[in-house]
Amino acid sequence: MDFRLTPRQAQLKADARALTDFIAGYETQCEENNGLPESAHAKIRDAVLDAGLQAVNMPAEWGGAGLTIAEQVTVQEELGRLTGALWDMVWRPANALRFCTPEQRERFLIPVIKGERRDCYAVTEPGAGSDPQNLATTATRNDRGWVLNGEKWFVTVGDHADFMIVLAAAGPERAPTLFLVDKDTPGIEMTRVPRFMHTFVYEHPEFTFTDVQVGEDAVLGGIGEGYDITRSWFTEERLMIAARTTGAAERALELSRDWAVEREQFGAPIASYQLIQGMLADCAVDIAVNRAYTHQVAWEADRATPRDRKTLHAKAAIAKLSASEASGRVIDRCLQIHGGRGYDRAYAVERLYRELRVDRIWEGTSEIQRLIIAGELVKRGTGVLDLPVAG
Ligand SMILES: Cc1cc2nc3c(=O)[nH]c(=O)nc-3n(C[C@H](O)[C@H](O)[C@H](O)COP(=O)(O)OP(=O)(O)OC[C@H]3O[C@@H](n4cnc5c(N)ncnc54)[C@H](O)[C@@H]3O)c2cc1C
Repeated sequence: MDFRLTPRQAQLKADARALTDFIAGYETQCEENNGLPESAHAKIRDAVLDAGLQAVNMPAEWGGAGLTIAEQVTVQEELGRLTGALWDMVWRPANALRFCTPEQRERFLIPVIKGERRDCYAVTEPGAGSDPQNLATTATRNDRGWVLNGEKWFVTVGDHADFMIVLAAAGPERAPTLFLVDKDTPGIEMTRVPRFMHTFVYEHPEFTFTDVQVGEDAVLGGIGEGYDITRSWFTEERLMIAARTTGAAERALELSRDWAVEREQFGAPIASYQLIQGMLADCAVDIAVNRAYTHQVAWEADRATPRDRKTLHAKAAIAKLSASEASGRVIDRCLQIHGGRGYDRAYAVERLYRELRVDRIWEGTSEIQRLIIAGELVKRGTGVLDLPVAG
């Protein structure tokens, strides 16, 4: 066994850290203004391109950074340190865009990789959350292609994106299908921009679709393929959440360790009190074990055969469930260690406290991850716990 970072991973980690430190300069501005001005978006986009960390999940032949999953995890861990969800400015095109036809790739994916266009993914609806099968958005065929009608909620980056990947029930058979839709297509309306608990550099608006006409060529990946395409990327996306939440927790612990050493009460640094030490130690445990497991599963994902797919899916669910819940525990303790300052939005721990909460909800709630893990145990036994064997 070799648990060391490869030289390439070590370099990526350093590059991602340098980019993270640069972007962190915008955290306060983002918090105070609930977003950033266009000039800041432009500067950060240039920095991402200079760092070569755009579209790390896309192949080099299309202009992406073409990183392995283990390498992506290394990058995401660093980016996860950022507050204001500024990590999302280091864009990763939706993996579903790999299913583009060559023409769609030229029109949608390659401009996203270059930082010229931006996608958003619209699956969730008022009545379809954890259960996307309850889809009410429809696509009806006509002589010019398809007509979309329905409503989508929580569309992350929906304010900034210029096209959407929309899941709709197509035709009388209600085949779940993804459509590539330019956001300025007539009939699309951004109806509400809710204020959420976190500060996020982009919004998560709600949209309605009223008789939105798209061409036959708007179908992404085939009619009826919508769920399968969306599901096929859960393993990667959930590992990235595990990585980001681990990075966020590590930053919180660094800040809290330093604060505990510096802050004096009752005539001594609070770090000298065992109740504080216990919290610091529990944070270190949560971070260390989740980092190791996330890297293990990412390593396995890079070597997986189609036969491993289902078990790997459950392993990614373990990583996402465990890391997102552990980071929630870590940030709660770190806020406590900071005392009243931990409740002040000027402090990164306060912002992370609000921001890490959603990681237990999106990309499948903690309950859904538990259902996946339990399903794997019931169907295939406890092999999900095994380490891979060489040979
Ligand atoms: C900030 C934010 C950004 C988002 N971005 C996007 C996006 O870009 N695109 C997109 O399509 N969606 C997005 N979402 C939506 C997100 O994926 C959903 O919120 C999530 O899947 C849960 O769906 P729901 O909110 O409808 O909750 P529900 O599904 O209604 O769940 C409510 C509760 O019931 C539990 N529950 C549901 N089913 C079961 C079950 N079978 N057994 C036990 N418990 C169950 C859930 O775990 C939860 O605790 C975003 C959400 C948020 C908050």
